Amino acid sequence: MVDKAASPVILWFRRDLRLDDNPALGAAVATGRPVIPLYILDETGEGRRLGGASRWWLDKSLRALDRDLRGRGGRLILRRGPAEAELRYLIAETGAGQVFMNRLFEPDAFARDADIAHALKGEGVECVGFNATLLCRPGAVLNGSGLPYKVFTPFHKALLATARAPQPTVAPASFIVPQDLASEEIEHWSLHPTRPDWSAGFVGAPGEAGAKAALTHFVEKRLNAYALDRDRPDRSATSRLSAHLHWGEISPWRAVNTARAAATSGSVASAEADKFVAEIGWREFSAHLLHHFPYLPERAFKAEYDAMPWRDDPAALAAWRAGRTGYPLVDAGMRQLWATGTMHNRVRMVVASFLIKHLLIDWREGEAWFWDTLSDADLASNAQNWQWVAGSGADASPYFRIFNPVAQGEKFDPQGRYVRHWVPEIGRLPDRWIHAPWTAPSSALADAGVRLGRDYPRPIVDHAEARERALGALKTLKAVSRPEDDE
Ligand code: FAD
Repeated sequence: MVDKAASPVILWFRRDLRLDDNPALGAAVATGRPVIPLYILDETGEGRRLGGASRWWLDKSLRALDRDLRGRGGRLILRRGPAEAELRYLIAETGAGQVFMNRLFEPDAFARDADIAHALKGEGVECVGFNATLLCRPGAVLNGSGLPYKVFTPFHKALLATARAPQPTVAPASFIVPQDLASEEIEHWSLHPTRPDWSAGFVGAPGEAGAKAALTHFVEKRLNAYALDRDRPDRSATSRLSAHLHWGEISPWRAVNTARAAATSGSVASAEADKFVAEIGWREFSAHLLHHFPYLPERAFKAEYDAMPWRDDPAALAAWRAGRTGYPLVDAGMRQLWATGTMHNRVRMVVASFLIKHLLIDWREGEAWFWDTLSDADLASNAQNWQWVAGSGADASPYFRIFNPVAQGEKFDPQGRYVRHWVPEIGRLPDRWIHAPWTAPSSALADAGVRLGRDYPRPIVDHAEARERALGALKTLKAVSRPEDDE
């Protein structure tokens, strides 16, 4: 039996890679005992293996956390392997009597953590869990019948009524970490991509300092036009907090409270702050849905959609991934994703819709590609959003609402600035054809130096035909809905 009174405690970092506002850290420090800051790379225990862009982000974020800890006299102990075994080794080495952690709510990680807590308890080691990743822990926001909400608006209303901001905790000024503990070298984890290293253009500054800087910049410079501009990929109008939030480099409460404080001080309209809080609410909705419906990443939330007659078309899938569909907004988005590890939200919707409806390719193919290439890849948000676009999710966009990539471009990238940046080979085309180069007269194409089919592809599918095909596919399902105009 471990002597709890004298032993150190383990602070098991997971997706809470921050020192401020970290309740597990606060509680660990409050014990007054030496704290062992630990990160375990458990490649299989948390469900899906991390995607490439996520590994890139994690690499930088762990290095930043280690630097922050060293600045306070501590350091991050790195271990790799099944989490329970690694915890047991460390407990045996140090005699640690408690493990403090912020909970993960994804089903596999949640189940693994429960098993670990149970197993360690049997040996007299207590696991103490907190919520640091969500505004409100899943299970606490239920409807009048005690069931999970399946529609966003009532969920969000109930969330705001239920969730209570915790007392913020401040990063401790110093740490006492046992000196003789072995740690793996992060270089040996190969988290940074090598074959190929496609990360040269990745954007974002992983780590707590980067998260705070992004939030400050957003609230001071962007929030006042957020509601209007957030749909514009040609403007830098959103917070770019998603990867920071995913890795817990900043708490969602910090984001919400900072936005609300700006509204209270009068520096931004409260409608802008509310819109931002609602987007954080979508993150929350996704996480709660996944917790209650663990199959969300694997199968249709509305089961009848799993009978969709998907096409197997490797060439079209490859063209979509590479940003060579012939639809400039789609191609711009897919190239932005590959080059930077992120993509604007509006364009995510357009490219997802294109894959699912124009190409009639299973949304899971797109979800998997995003999982690998997004630095903010998040099991819940990714699955929820893909299913939203596919029409098969909870509170989803109806399947028959088919985004027209040309109309979307003209509306949200009216001067084609976004497209010109990512698809430079058509950059000299006048605005009126930038989103539909195949409609340009040959003289305009020649003046712009564009040979369609050589410099830039012709559309791999015709919009009107694809739309009919998608609606036809919908009719084969039991749940047939009423077609309405494109957006
Ligand atoms: P902001 O507009 O500043 O929003 C603030 C925060 O709210 C975001 O950081 C994010 O945490 C949250 N948020 C905003 N929109 C959504 C949304 N629709 N769903 C859930 N949370 C949201 N977001 C991810 O974090 N991870 C994913 O894997 C992911 N996959 C997506 C897949 C598809 C097909 C689509 C359409 C959207 C996906 N999103 C995902 C949601 C959204 O695109 C990103 O959260 C957003 O673009 C991130 O940019 P931002 O931080 O500047 O957002």
